[in-house]
Amino acid sequence: MRFGAEIWTSAPWPYRPQPLSDELLSSYLIRTAHGLSMRPVTFTNAVWGSRDLLFGQDIDNYAPAAVIDRIATGTGLAPHAILGMTFSPWRDDLDIGERSISRKPWILPVSIVSNDRRRPGLQFCPACFASDPRPYLRRTWRLAFATVCTIHKVEFCDRCPHCRSTLQPHRSPSLRTCYSCGGDLAGAGNQASRRLVTQTRAFEQTLRDGWTDFAGKPIYAYLYFRIVRQIAALLVNGKRAEKLRQAAAAALGGDDVPFNKPNARQPVEYLHVVERRRLFDLVARLLEDFPERFVGICAQAGVWRSHIVKDMGDVPFELDEALCALDRTPYYPTDAEVRAAAEYLRRVKGIATYRELKALCSESRAAIYKYMDYEREQTSPSKRRLEALKILHSQK
Ligand SMILES: [Zn+2]
Ligand SMILES: [Zn+2]
Repeated sequence: MRFGAEIWTSAPWPYRPQPLSDELLSSYLIRTAHGLSMRPVTFTNAVWGSRDLLFGQDIDNYAPAAVIDRIATGTGLAPHAILGMTFSPWRDDLDIGERSISRKPWILPVSIVSNDRRRPGLQFCPACFASDPRPYLRRTWRLAFATVCTIHKVEFCDRCPHCRSTLQPHRSPSLRTCYSCGGDLAGAGNQASRRLVTQTRAFEQTLRDGWTDFAGKPIYAYLYFRIVRQIAALLVNGKRAEKLRQAAAAALGGDDVPFNKPNARQPVEYLHVVERRRLFDLVARLLEDFPERFVGICAQAGVWRSHIVKDMGDVPFELDEALCALDRTPYYPTDAEVRAAAEYLRRVKGIATYRELKALCSESRAAIYKYMDYEREQTSPSKRRLEALKILHSQK
């Protein structure tokens, strides 16, 4: 097709697709370009000029009003429908504000340098691509808490499975083709864990509804997501993160291996999808029966209120209330929890010493003496162990 230059700057475009469900604005523009038999960059340069590279910006994250208006003229769509393809509708519920800067809570950064996407912040579901009549990119794929597809129950990918390139859809011949190796991004995908599918569904539902039930009460989505992000950060960053992961994994299961991250303090949005899956598996375990479980695990790990709310600014009332229990009463892990912690230590360290058990279950001394391993062989039980066993028997 050949058109005069004025068609790109004033008149409606000859091809005007309808936006698809949850479609990203960048995906919509790429599909429009493909429908006009143009390369996306050639198309956007024809409309906006080549001085300001449109794909040199994260237009899903922030689309200037002039860009929105021009797309409205070209497509006949209402401006609010175009804004609806950006992250703008999540402004309040994710507390991401109006700012044009790229770093926002929960939004995965793609770190654009000229037209290049340096970070794998655009995830995809291979099964969505495989079943799409017209492959397209979803807004949900840019969210840090989304690590699995809740429709197909498969794990998200954040790189080409063939060559490990990040997705650069504006440089690909089709939205399901890798720009670098030409490989097909569609496939069956790896099956996701049931826990992650359930938790991700709950997150998505909260974002749709604007509120959720939390600790037995309704809470606004923006407060809920602030609390969830804080719990996730506690598991990743800081001196107590390792203890917290160990205590959580010992009592609730999950993986306590440190997260692969380039800096000591790393926002959760900067973790790659494999690491975020491990992280949100632990987060899901800690959110169950909130706050009792969470408070118990924190007490075991020596994580107190002041550590939890550090750098949080205004502490949501719902979290503050839950953490009161943490300040008032020391947590006594149950007999079963101490036994589980001892088994965990034997599995990962070969031995459950007094010192290590004490670090995990500090306040339950009697149970610690019951389940600990001795580093040297004892000729007769120590006085303290006999006392501990006597207390345990008298409790029955
Ligand atoms: Zn899918
Ligand atoms: Zn590739």
